Amino acid sequence: AEITTLLLSRIRDVADYPEPGVMFKDITPLLADPVAFTALTDALAEVTVRHGATKIVGLEARGFILGAPVAVRAGVGFIPVRKAGKLPGATLSQAYDLEYGSAEIEVHAEDLVAGDRVMVIDDVLATGGTAEASLQLIRRAGAEVAGVAVLMELGFLAGRARLEPALAGAPLESL
Ligand code: IMP
Repeated sequence: AEITTLLLSRIRDVADYPEPGVMFKDITPLLADPVAFTALTDALAEVTVRHGATKIVGLEARGFILGAPVAVRAGVGFIPVRKAGKLPGATLSQAYDLEYGSAEIEVHAEDLVAGDRVMVIDDVLATGGTAEASLQLIRRAGAEVAGVAVLMELGFLAGRARLEPALAGAPLESL
């Protein structure tokens, strides 16, 4: 209700970015507004605690900006999932398909262990490919999925449907 209006008012639509025909949702105005950024952090922390998560995975790069303060607020650890080649230690990798080509994400293998319940945080769920790959990484590491929490989902891209099998009953919460 009220928070949705506030958050929506701080998201900027940028036409034809990064390519012609794409309407990019830019959250930098929201980050620059301390009232909106705090409201978003609090809402995502509430979701994290409500679903019993013990760790947060943030997806590069805006999932780092949102996930880190949420982890501190919720009192849980933060784990970065990065694009391939950026993490110095021993990693688990997961490839996934893009519209043209493919991408690969990685996590430090030892940061996730059996018994962890992980909430995945990002700004935008589009096709769901990135989030889906992150859930596969979490399960391969032996941890449990507490859910996925995003600021917004782009409904017309049907990411929720794509993510459903990988969620296996865990919640997808979009504010
Ligand atoms: P997906 O894998 O297609 O769901 O794309 C999601 C990833 O791309 C997330 O990490 C988002 O941060 C990013 N992304 C896709 N579309 C947008 C957008 O309109 N605004 C901001 N990020 C986006």
